[in-house]
Amino acid sequence: MNILASGIVALTLVLMTVSCSSHTFPNSGPAAPCLEYKVGARGEPLGTVPGGSDLFTAPVWLFHHKLKLPLPVPLKAYVCPDEVAFAAKVDRIAGVGAYGDWRQPPTGVATEAGLILRGDHLSRMDAAGCAGIIAHELTHISHQTLAARRQDRAPSWILEGHAEVVRFRVLDLAGYRTYDQSRAEVLRSIGTSRRLPNLRALEKAKDWWVDSLPQSEAMYGEAFLAVEWLTERYGTAKLVEFLTRLRLGDADHREHWGKVFPIPYEYFLDEFSYRLKSLGRRDESPSNLVHVGT
Ligand SMILES: [Zn+2]
Repeated sequence: MNILASGIVALTLVLMTVSCSSHTFPNSGPAAPCLEYKVGARGEPLGTVPGGSDLFTAPVWLFHHKLKLPLPVPLKAYVCPDEVAFAAKVDRIAGVGAYGDWRQPPTGVATEAGLILRGDHLSRMDAAGCAGIIAHELTHISHQTLAARRQDRAPSWILEGHAEVVRFRVLDLAGYRTYDQSRAEVLRSIGTSRRLPNLRALEKAKDWWVDSLPQSEAMYGEAFLAVEWLTERYGTAKLVEFLTRLRLGDADHREHWGKVFPIPYEYFLDEFSYRLKSLGRRDESPSNLVHVGT
């Protein structure tokens, strides 16, 4: 067993014995501060906040050693006791009004200054749920690092789909759930969805503001399948190259895409629409056909 392999085993054991619900994050009212954690480049805890840092050290270790995705050093994470403290922290870091009008209060957001999380939400989740949320949001922080904070130039389906690919990989590497199990769940979710939007309708961040949880899950699942297919065909390095190019000039994302991928953006979207239909039809129930449209 080499050092990397033994490291994975150790991480798995740590994650398996830590449950988010076992953590007592501060919950003493609106005035309670958010706890601040710091993690070094190789996943080592920095700072002095007791407990909880294991929630962040393991995913950061995986980002550095296994996924090869950059994160700021040190990585900062804030765990806030409730919505009031969370909203105040988001506004303080990202600017007044940044908290916005989410249809469903988020559990975490990725900002330039680090990850901001709702401790009251995490306390109700199991360890896999927490690891998944943290992996997803860390991916967005990695997007910011790659694109020098111009990640919003990318279509949202790429950002969200990639965050889901990474979430499933982290859950697999940490021993919670295999990648194939996560993927099968996605196929079930889109198979039971009556309608799915075309990827063209998932290009802006606001396109994801929906009221229905099943619809939201199906949209994230669709984006996951699209990014999975993109990286299967052209490799993850090409996706990273695309995200890194966003920092250059003022070009539209289609122009950057054309410099990186050998297939025109619009062709890929059309081909994926056909692929999505075929994935839906593989579902066992004939009534579970996927209808791709607006
Ligand atoms: Zn996201």
